[in-house]
Amino acid sequence: MSASDMINDCPVLDLRNIQFSLTHAKYLLSEEAIIQTQIKDFKLGNALADAFIVDKLFILEMHTNAVSGVSLEFEGRDIISIKDFSREEINHIFKTAKSMEPIAAKGSEMLRGKILATLFFEASTRTRLSFEAAMHKLGGSTIGFAEAEIASVKKGENLADTIRTVDKYANVIALRHPLEGAARLAAEFAEVPVINGGSGAEEHPTQALLDLYTINKEKGRIDGLKIAFAGDLRYGRTVHSLAYALSLYNVELYLVSPESLKMRREVLQTIKEKIPVIEKTSLEKIVPLVDVLYVTRIQKERFPDPAEYAKVKGSYKIDLQTLSEAKKDLIVLHPLPRVDEIAAEVDNTPYARYFQQVWNGIVVRMALLSLILGATK
Ligand code: ASP
Ligand code: ASP
Repeated sequence: MSASDMINDCPVLDLRNIQFSLTHAKYLLSEEAIIQTQIKDFKLGNALADAFIVDKLFILEMHTNAVSGVSLEFEGRDIISIKDFSREEINHIFKTAKSMEPIAAKGSEMLRGKILATLFFEASTRTRLSFEAAMHKLGGSTIGFAEAEIASVKKGENLADTIRTVDKYANVIALRHPLEGAARLAAEFAEVPVINGGSGAEEHPTQALLDLYTINKEKGRIDGLKIAFAGDLRYGRTVHSLAYALSLYNVELYLVSPESLKMRREVLQTIKEKIPVIEKTSLEKIVPLVDVLYVTRIQKERFPDPAEYAKVKGSYKIDLQTLSEAKKDLIVLHPLPRVDEIAAEVDNTPYARYFQQVWNGIVVRMALLSLILGATK
C-alpha cells in the first residue's frame, strides 16, 4: 500500500491534531519510516504540512501509530517497571534517543529551568551520574543525595514524607532504593513523575532500555537474536527488567546461572509464555550459539547469608578462552560495575561493548527526561 493510499484509507484520522514540528518529525524518522514519495497530492492539515518542508520524506510511523490508536503519550509519566512499556513505546524511546546523540555532544537548552532530583538510597556510579549528566546536557539542573546517611531519612523521616517534600522542589524524581516496591510507592506520593533507578532486586527499567538500545544499535535489530544472560539472575535486577523487555521481541533467551541463582520464578513464568527460554548452569556450550552475551555481577550485598555468597562467588569468568568458540560478531554486555566476571583481556576485543552501553545510558536517559517533561513528543 502506498503512503497516499494509507492516508486516504484512514477515516477518522485528524492529523492536524497531532502537534508536529519539523524538529519532532526529524526525531521520528527512521529507515523504515522514510518513504521516498511525492507528496504533492496529499490534502494535509497545516500543522502536518510543516513537517513536509522536506518534500520527499513522509513519516509513516507517526501515521501508523495514529491509525492503530497507539498513543505515545509520555509527558508526566512515571517510569517504574519496564512491564509498563509496549514495543511501540520502546521504539519511540529509541528514536528519541537517537535524536539525542548529536545533542549529547553539543548540549541544549531543552530543559532549561527544570530540576531533576536524584534520591539515591543505595550505591550507584552510573545511574545517578548519567541521569545528572543527561539533565545538564539538556540545560536543566539537578539536586539530590547519593546516600541516605546524609538525608533526613537518618533522623527517621519516612519515604513518603521525603517524596512529598522533594515533589515541591523538583520537576522529576529519580529514585534508587533497596526495597522492592519503593519506586511504585514514591510514585503514589509524588505529583511529579518518578523514575525508578533500581528497586532492590526487583527491577531497573532504565538500564533495560539502554541495554536494548545498545543491542539494537550494535546488531541493527533485536528480533531473531539468540541472547544469553550469565551470572546472578536471582538478585540481579537488570536481568529481570531486560528479560521482560526482551519477551516483547522474537528472541531466544539462554539463562545461565548457578542453581541457587536461577531466574526469579515470577519473571520466568511471564517470559516463558512469550519466548523460548533455555536454562543452563554451564556456559561452555552456549557461548558458540549466541549473538549477545549479557554478563552480570553476583550481587553480594543482596545475599542474606555470606556463606551462600562464598559458594557461588566467581562462578563465571569470561576470558579469551571462554570466547574462543564464539561467533565473530558476538557482543558482550555488562550493566557494570564488574568485579571479576569479565577478564580485563576481553576489554580490547571487538566483543566488548560494555563501555558503549555507558554512553548509550546518557542518550537514553536524555530521551526519557525530555519525553516525560514534555520537551519532546
Ligand atoms: N550499582 C551501579 C553502579 O555502581 C549503579 C548503576 O550504575 O546502575 O554503577
Ligand atoms: N548497576 C546495576 C544495578 O544497579 C548492576 C549491578 O549493580 O550489578 O543493578
